[in-house]
Amino acid sequence: MAKVYNFSAGPAMLPHEVLAEAQSELLDWHGSGMSVMEMSHRGKDFMEIIHDAEHDLRTLLRIPANYKVLFLQGGASQQFSMVPLNLATESGSIDVVNTGHWSRLAIKEARRYTRVNVVASSEATQFDHVPAADTWQRDPDAAYLHYTSNETIGGLQFPDVPESAVPLVCDMSSDFLSKEVDIGRFGLIYAGAQKNIGPSGLVLVIVREDLLGRAQAATPTMLNYQVHADSDSMYNTPSTWPIYIAGLVFKWIERQGGVKGIEARNSEKAGLLYHAIDSSDGFYTTHIQAPYRSRMNVVFRLGDTSLEDAFLMEAARNGLVQLKGHRSVGGIRASIYNAMPIEGVKSLVNFMMDFARQHG
Ligand SMILES: *Cc1c(COP(=O)(O)O)cnc(C)c1O
Repeated sequence: MAKVYNFSAGPAMLPHEVLAEAQSELLDWHGSGMSVMEMSHRGKDFMEIIHDAEHDLRTLLRIPANYKVLFLQGGASQQFSMVPLNLATESGSIDVVNTGHWSRLAIKEARRYTRVNVVASSEATQFDHVPAADTWQRDPDAAYLHYTSNETIGGLQFPDVPESAVPLVCDMSSDFLSKEVDIGRFGLIYAGAQKNIGPSGLVLVIVREDLLGRAQAATPTMLNYQVHADSDSMYNTPSTWPIYIAGLVFKWIERQGGVKGIEARNSEKAGLLYHAIDSSDGFYTTHIQAPYRSRMNVVFRLGDTSLEDAFLMEAARNGLVQLKGHRSVGGIRASIYNAMPIEGVKSLVNFMMDFARQHG
């Protein structure tokens, strides 16, 4: 088997142990004589799988009892419609922080259902920072405040959870489970699975119960949180295989020392990469201001951008793959989610130093 370190932004690499475990029980899950993919979602075996996954997630994040955990489909993108449909009114408004590509899409979609007040934006400086909270133009009557904790494409991350008097809603797709968070500070969190949770085809929603039951009248049944909450994510057939893999990933995180252990490793990994960039004398550069640099998606350029194609090609020859930046920003992006081992990051750092020596 080819040994590569996969820096894809998503679908991203999964822990090797989890894949090996899934392989070992692929044809016969726990003596059931069948694969998880072939099971009835309402049967005893799958009910055990989804119940354990939810239980383990609740333990990892200490999710309070007054929050529902929903296993849905449609990706984080569908949440851009579901959140305003369920939590906002046509005549009211919401507050949103604009920090890049994903916030912009969330704003664009929410405008179909409610009035959107952009409280702050760093667009004028190419999203190089998170605007200071004391400059935000908030509306005290907003139905909620939405932000994107980690901008996967731009490589910009909120260092802290913002304060909010109105319910706080977060697109946590690309830093979910990467560091400790106090769930009690949120009204709703959503996260697509393919970054830090499991395979694509699953999105997790954690929602405070008192926010349910307020959906706009025209909300399609399948987009109504209350419907999914009332049926424990079994209103229709859920995404069974991704839920099973997510459950294995949750157990794997537990074995890494829980979210606390994972957070320490993530911080070390990101530190190594940013140190390599900062100490390269401008051979590598990042425009993101230091306090807001993402620990999940390290976005950088070569000082001489004409060397970027060669960088990507030589990196791939060295088993360091999927490092190309998103087409909208170009350059290089190293996504170093939970599953990326520190050895992968060290290998990339060594390659970067060699490449700089050869071409600098
Ligand atoms: C990947 C991503 C999305 C979109 O996820 P889909 O599952 O493709 O809909 C939205 N927000 C953020 C922050 C992401 O990283």
